[in-house]
Amino acid sequence: MDKKLVIAIDGPAASGKSTTAKLVANRLGYLYIDTGAMYRAMGLKAGQLGIPISDSGSIAAMAEATVITQKPGRKGVTTFLDGRDVSREIRTPEASQLASDISTIPAVRRRLVAQQQEMGKDGGVVMEGRDITTVVFPEAEVKVYMEASVEERARRRQAELARKGMPATLAEIEEQIRARDRQDSTRADSPLLRAAGALVIDTTGLTIELQVEMVLEEAFKAGARRE
Ligand code: C5P
Repeated sequence: MDKKLVIAIDGPAASGKSTTAKLVANRLGYLYIDTGAMYRAMGLKAGQLGIPISDSGSIAAMAEATVITQKPGRKGVTTFLDGRDVSREIRTPEASQLASDISTIPAVRRRLVAQQQEMGKDGGVVMEGRDITTVVFPEAEVKVYMEASVEERARRRQAELARKGMPATLAEIEEQIRARDRQDSTRADSPLLRAAGALVIDTTGLTIELQVEMVLEEAFKAGARRE
């Protein structure tokens, strides 16, 4: 067996999906696709243009006229918004909330989902987000749902932000994560859910290596080639 699979990973903020997805993609020689970065870039643009999220007509028109691309590189993935590198700007807490807000708008989701389906149509991708196992690739050969306690996720996000020179208190981050969890799992269009048949991994207290091994094991069972 030597198939180029679609590996779909969903889960809430800071559940370990990005780190795991990147390492799994490296090990298999697959393309890593960070769909959250695409919603973040859309949110950033709306914020910069001053278009309120409540004005869904203008947001839809903006989304239609927006081009978001990603390029894998040595330091991770670079995200371009209309040709401009926004990889750093999209990581602020404000950008996280704007992404969650804009991702409730069906026209934005339709545009990004179609693009993600096109990117993964030939397989050989590890794609992570909130609706990959349920909407974008419900037929993916490997489906994973990653989660962790809010406290653990807040600690991880705090460390990540500190590394990027954006310090914040644990209480602040915990509150932001809870608000985003609430919005992402209760929205009408494509809420965050555990898909039927997904392998659920609670990463609280797990090492990255173990998370990666668990996903790789699923991939090999589904026919991925061992490098
Ligand atoms: O994964 P990340 O935290 O970067 O995602 C930012 C936001 O984008 C999420 O809180 C969620 O609202 C939205 N998102 C989404 N669907 C995806 C990926 C992200 O709605 N597939």
